[in-house]
Amino acid sequence: MTADQPGLDMTTSINRILIQYGELTLKGRNRRDFERALGDNIRLRLSRAGIDWPLEQRHHRALVHVPEQAAEQLPTALAALGQVAGIATFAPAVFIPAEQTGQPHRLETAPIEQSMVSLANARHRPGATFAVRVNRADKRIPIRSDALARELGAVVLRQTPWDKVNLTQPDLQLNLDIYEEGCYCYADKQRGLGGLPVGTAGRAIALLSGGIDSPVAAYLMARRGCAIDFVHFTATRVQQTRAAEELVARIARQLSHYTLRSRLFLLPYTHFDMAMMGHNSGYDVVLFRRFMSRAAERLAERCGAQALVSGDSLGQVASQTMENLVSTSRAVQLPLLRPLIAMDKQEIIDIARRIGTYELSIQPYKDCCALLSENPRTRSTPELLERLEAEYMPNMDELLEQTLAEQVCLEFEVGELVGQG
Ligand code: ATP
Ligand code: MG
Repeated sequence: MTADQPGLDMTTSINRILIQYGELTLKGRNRRDFERALGDNIRLRLSRAGIDWPLEQRHHRALVHVPEQAAEQLPTALAALGQVAGIATFAPAVFIPAEQTGQPHRLETAPIEQSMVSLANARHRPGATFAVRVNRADKRIPIRSDALARELGAVVLRQTPWDKVNLTQPDLQLNLDIYEEGCYCYADKQRGLGGLPVGTAGRAIALLSGGIDSPVAAYLMARRGCAIDFVHFTATRVQQTRAAEELVARIARQLSHYTLRSRLFLLPYTHFDMAMMGHNSGYDVVLFRRFMSRAAERLAERCGAQALVSGDSLGQVASQTMENLVSTSRAVQLPLLRPLIAMDKQEIIDIARRIGTYELSIQPYKDCCALLSENPRTRSTPELLERLEAEYMPNMDELLEQTLAEQVCLEFEVGELVGQG
């Protein structure tokens, strides 16, 4: 393919997706486990998107082999990779094997020039600027990166309509990465999700409401490598048959694009509600937070989870004053992680939009918290709450077990319901 063949679709020559790992590379001794987990997660995520292309893993990077005639599936594959935690960047690339370039002792640039020219041609916009960047990971190649970049830039200027170079802020960056197996030419490098592969940083139970915040909290933990299951308390009767259509189930299903494999436990609010009847202390919201956390802690023991996650953000609502957050934490032994604690609402909303939960979270939903007192106390102490609990819920253990006994569990895998019980 050359500049003399205008209109040729360059995607026909894309034969790899080049994936660069993020912080994984820092993990030294554990690197192998991390790379294995990332490989498994990439394969699962792609295969759930209907793509079963081969994955090759190499030092610090992975390559998805794009079959010939598969160009129309490429956008689907790229979108899927954009949701995999542990990927720093990814780019559809033209791979030129070492045999074609004469590596490592020479570097035959003709095939590289051809790819660069075709990448450049397909992306030309009048007035736009470009730059060529060369990364020579294989240092045996007898030519320096900057010299090669200049040479390739001159070729692009000569053979394509591109006529302006800008090395500091180019509109188009043409990249050449030289590794021992060959060269990768690419133009459309995208930022990945970052973080660590799901499943490499423990397991947690995320308290999921129908609101905006808690799905974002769960997502952030998953992105940091944590395997996630969800628990939700519902005021409507937990019905097996309709459970999957509940709003919170749709939120959990959407989140599973990122968390990959997650269970959602639906628990009834009724046992707590009945115990509270006739009592009007103004502390019922905090008492409910403590009750939910205790139930989640019992679930965590059964799921092998090491921590709880909530969507609390300091001072956002009355139940999230420092005092009330502390009172909730004190009800459980497990750490209650709060990844949103220092974030502003708008920052949380921005993430919710990006991960596709915002539109679900703003739909009308009768969360059980709406049934609790409208003006909750902003100050509480664990000691006072313990006294109230002893009075209202002397049978706490029994209430928790009754609540857990009525659980309905939905199992999600990458955006699909795969089990129910
Ligand atoms: P969200 O937007 O996540 O609902 P919020 O700002 O509305 O949060 P609260 O309603 O005070 O805050 O809830 C605080 C946290 O308690 C939530 O982020 C969530 O982790 C948990 N939570 C609230 N309601 C429920 C529920 N019905 N089931 C499970 N967890 C819940
Ligand atoms: Mg809420």
